[in-house]
Amino acid sequence: MPEDTTSLRPRPVIDALSQPFWDGMAGGELVIQRCVDCGYYVHPPYPECTSCRGSTLTFEAVSGRGAIFERSIISSPVVVGFEDAIPYACVVVELEEQDELLVAGRFEGPDPSAAVVGTPVEAVFRAEPDGFQLVQFAPVSKVPG
Ligand SMILES: [Zn+2]
Repeated sequence: MPEDTTSLRPRPVIDALSQPFWDGMAGGELVIQRCVDCGYYVHPPYPECTSCRGSTLTFEAVSGRGAIFERSIISSPVVVGFEDAIPYACVVVELEEQDELLVAGRFEGPDPSAAVVGTPVEAVFRAEPDGFQLVQFAPVSKVPG
């Protein structure tokens, strides 16, 4: 029986700037930094707006819906702690709120090859074995209406 290494999975380094993002995730919401002056979403969090350079930023929940922008299928044990998950896909998702608003996560599903660029996905929140909650992206299963 292979050794359980899931407790060795890396965790993000959380600082004051990114704290609201991680707090949102812990509560099952995708919370993205947004400029109060021009409305532009900024991710990852940054001290100033990357569009207008305004310095008044807040955090706002977004839909979690988007489309796969890029993907990578991991088929060998390159990250400690994820040996049991191989093969899996890491995806970068462009959220529907704004062009080039990109968030990374794991693709949820038994077949990582289903993580095709352009596939509509939605955020789902899954607790890791140690309870730390992370966003994953699952294919949108239902056609609206
Ligand atoms: Zn701005």
